[in-house]
This record gives sequence, structure tokens and C-alpha cells, in this order.
Amino acid sequence: MRYDTRMRVAFRLALVFGLIPIFVCPMALLGQQASKSPKDDEKSKPKVRPNDAGAATPTRFDLLRGVYGPFRANNDLLYYHLDIRVDPEAKTIRGKNTIRFRMLREGNRIQLDLDEALNIDKILLGDEALKFERDTGTVFVDFPKMLKAGQVYSIEFYYSGQPKETGRFGGITFKKDPAGRTWINTACEETGASIWWPNKDQWRDEVESMDISVAVPNGLTDVSNGHFVRKADLGDGYTRWDWHVSYPINNYDVSLNIGDYAHYSEKLGDLPLDFYVLPEDLERSKPQFAQAKGMIEAYQHYFGPYPFAKDGYKLVQAPYSGMEHQSAVTYGNLFKNGYLGRDWTGVGISPRFDFIIIHESGHEWFGNAVSAADHADMWIHEGWTTYLESLYVEYRWGKDDALKYLSGYRPKVHNLRPIVAEREVNADPTEDQYFKGALMLNTLRSVVNDDAKWWTLLRGFYQEFKYKNILTEDVIAYFNLHSGMNLTPIFNQYLRRAAVPRLELLFGETPGTVMYKWDAHEQSFTMPVRVGAQGKWQTIQPTTKWQTMKTPLSKDELQVDLDHFYVDVNKQ
Ligand SMILES: [Zn+2]
Repeated sequence: MRYDTRMRVAFRLALVFGLIPIFVCPMALLGQQASKSPKDDEKSKPKVRPNDAGAATPTRFDLLRGVYGPFRANNDLLYYHLDIRVDPEAKTIRGKNTIRFRMLREGNRIQLDLDEALNIDKILLGDEALKFERDTGTVFVDFPKMLKAGQVYSIEFYYSGQPKETGRFGGITFKKDPAGRTWINTACEETGASIWWPNKDQWRDEVESMDISVAVPNGLTDVSNGHFVRKADLGDGYTRWDWHVSYPINNYDVSLNIGDYAHYSEKLGDLPLDFYVLPEDLERSKPQFAQAKGMIEAYQHYFGPYPFAKDGYKLVQAPYSGMEHQSAVTYGNLFKNGYLGRDWTGVGISPRFDFIIIHESGHEWFGNAVSAADHADMWIHEGWTTYLESLYVEYRWGKDDALKYLSGYRPKVHNLRPIVAEREVNADPTEDQYFKGALMLNTLRSVVNDDAKWWTLLRGFYQEFKYKNILTEDVIAYFNLHSGMNLTPIFNQYLRRAAVPRLELLFGETPGTVMYKWDAHEQSFTMPVRVGAQGKWQTIQPTTKWQTMKTPLSKDELQVDLDHFYVDVNKQ
């Protein structure tokens, strides 16, 4: 850790933990390089972080949630049992989360989160009620005695109240389905899971397994994550649905889907596939959901077995477009191909498949199995999964169609902000994380220029990091080590700089020659690229210094292979 980074981290911790008054303008924290992770062993990180002025100013809760402070880092999550009762009429939740964790160092305070709209009824260690302190959405829990390093503890966090509906998909919504029946769903990646249940609401640490018990009025079904264990009639007009998750799970993936669901099952080999839809949609869902098998087969081909085999794979109808809830992917794409019936990338490929099934389920591999450790690195979820869409197209229809599909993403990229956002402030990265992230990965494949090696890299990368929470530095280190190439300047240019590399082509006085170089912010940026004419490409190795090559092609004739390399071109 460098001195200035250490100072900044110390400042932020002091700010967050109340040692500096909060009226210090958080903008002062923006526009700086992300704090250095212990895993960071990169040599050529940018000296000055490009201005990320488009990023939202973090709130106090963003700062509390974003930083992995001492009261988060002193413990490691092992297990949750979320055990709640949901009242659709009162729109309330009442219950508890049992939180088991191992102390990594001695301490008497841990940091959890629960939205201010919800009451904390009590927090128990055994029979003993614990003191706690709320600060925006954060809850600091205090223990009367020091907890010992290495020891496992379990607390019961009782809460109740009416969660607030907020954010793009509402966080948690108490709706009616089109037939007027109860329909309650969660989608809280943006707002954080603590909008509706108490947990350690951050991305770095996940429980190893989880139980989810949800009591709902008789006649309704709750579909949550994991495999269905049992349902029990509680004798008071409510039925409890028990689900068990056998793998690590992101907090925001934990999901409620309460409704009048019709259910049917299939199998792909040994993998159970379960489908939950509103009864009216049962018949039309069947041909559409049949796409799930081909999707799983395609991703298994490239990366290896479906990562949550013991939990099975589910598609669950929901009133919003879709979300990658682990092993219980929610679906609201109108049972139509494309995205909400539209040609998503506008090049005629996406009408062949259901975008939501293909994209959201791709997150089972990238997002749910391989997870980012900080919001700032969310491209590890979205850039990769967007790239997976093109792999699905390639698996089914070949590489030409995959390239065409990806080309439809180029107009969606803005290049105004770096993809990797400010760390430890709960930042929302730019939308470029999706499309530019995918185009970068396609470009890297062309840089590696050996498909057998590329497929080995992809599978190895996924296998190395499945069930782990990683940072961009881990991705770069893996690809450098296993490709035998120094890809750091390329990753950094695409991920940590706003602009893509621009190929400068200078046609001088002398006919038959052209000068070329990269215009890029990364020092020592170098990347091969193909130029020439369609079908007659030649690979050149531009750097940031001018070089000269001979070409029979004129300024108008000389093309750059933009299907394989996502770059800008400036011909003069
Ligand atoms: Zn996504």
C-alpha cells in the first residue's frame, strides 16, 4: 500500500466511523485512484485516476456500506437463516435472521445493515439482548464481552415493519398479478438486500450456505433460492416454505417470489429444472422456457458444469424484466424472444432467443459463482455475462453471427467514464460495463489469437474463481499468468480509462506507405490489430510511437478489422 493510499483509506475510515464531521464534501474523495487492494500486484497501474465526474456523489450510507471497515473485516460470514412471515395485506415483514460468523480478530462490535424503515425488535446472543447503534442503514452491534479470534458466534436479529419500495425494480414490491392476486417479489441489487432483511450488506463476504423460511397466507407459494425442503401448515392461516441454499450466495440474490404460482419440472441430465409461472401463462411459458436447456448446455460447454447443481435451476415469473437471483432466476420478458419483444442489439440476431433467459442465467456463472468483491468491479458480472450472450450465439449459430451480435453493442457504448468505478463508496459503475466490457473481452480473444488457448483461458479463469469474490486485479493477474502475455495495459486502457485506444493512421506524401501508432492514455500501451481489406487482413503491432508500413491500399481502401478489435480509428 502506498503512503498516499494509506492516508486516504485512513481518512475515509475516520470519516465513516465518525472521527471527522460528515459535512466534509465527499466530492473531495472522487476523482482519485481506487484504494489499493492487498491482492493488487500490478506494476503499471494508472498514476492518476481519470476523472469520474459522472459518478453519483456517495451518500453517508454509501460510504458506510461501501468501505470494508474494521467492524466488517473483523469477521467472516458462515451462515444465515432468514426466517420471516410476510403479510401481503399490511405489506409487512416480521421475523429474524440468524447470522453465524467466525471472528477473524478479537473485537466487541460488528457492522450489519438494515434499512431505517424497518424496526429492530431485538438482537440476541443466546438469551442475552445485545446493544446496537443505527447510523442511516447501518447497524453496529455491540457485545458485552470481547469475541475471540477464531471462534464461531451466532446471533439472532429480530426485525419487523413495512419495507420501502425504491429503486429501479422496487427492491421489494407488494403487487397484484394481472388477475388481482397477491404477487410479492424482490430485486434489490441496486438498493442492497438490507432494504428488506438484516445482513452484512456488502459484496466482499458471503455466507457459505443459507436457509430461507418464508411464511405466507395459505394458498400462496413462496419461491426462494436453493432447493425446496418442505412446506408446513402453521395452523394459523399461514404456510411456511423452507428452502436451502448449499453454496455461497450474494445478499442481493436472496429472493422472495410470493404468488399463485403454477409449477412444472424437467431435468437436464441430473440437474433439476423447475419453472414457476402464473397459471394463465403456463402453456405459453413451456416452449419459451425450453430455451433454458440449450442455454445451460452452451455455458457448460465453455465454462464447466452449472455451478449450483444441488440447488437446481429455476425460472420464476416476476413483474419486472428479469434478475439473476441465484438458482431462482426471475423472468418477466413477456414469453417473447429478444428483449421485451424487441431486437435488443438491432442486428437481427437477438430475435432468435429470449434475451432474459440467456443473459440473467449467464450470471449463474459470472455474478453468482464468480462474484465481484466491490461494486466498482461489477463489470466482472455484467461485462462477462454480456460476453456470454455472444458465446451462446457462437455455440448455436457460429462465430460470424456472434461477431455480428457483438457489433450491435458498439453504438451502446459511451466512453465517458472508466468501467471500474471508485472503490469502497458503493459506486454504481457506468453502463459501459456491459457492452464495452463484452467488446473488450472479444478484443482480447483476437489479441490472444489462438482460439484453443482462449477457451482454455476462459474455462480456467472461471474454475479458478467460482464461489469466490474477486477484484479486477485478480482477473488481470490470471490472464497475464496463463496467457504468458502482459495484458495489463490493455485491461487498464479499457477498464480504467474512459476512452478506447485510437489507431492513428497517417497517409503521408509517399504513395504506398502509411504511418501508424496508438493514441492511448495508458503508458506503454501496445496491442496488435488487423488492418488491410476484408478477408486479406494483416496483423500489425502498433505502440504509442510512430511506425511505418508499406501498403498498396489507399487511405479510403485501408480498413481496420473492427469486428475483432473494439478500437477507434483516425485516418489522416
Ligand atoms: Zn446482467
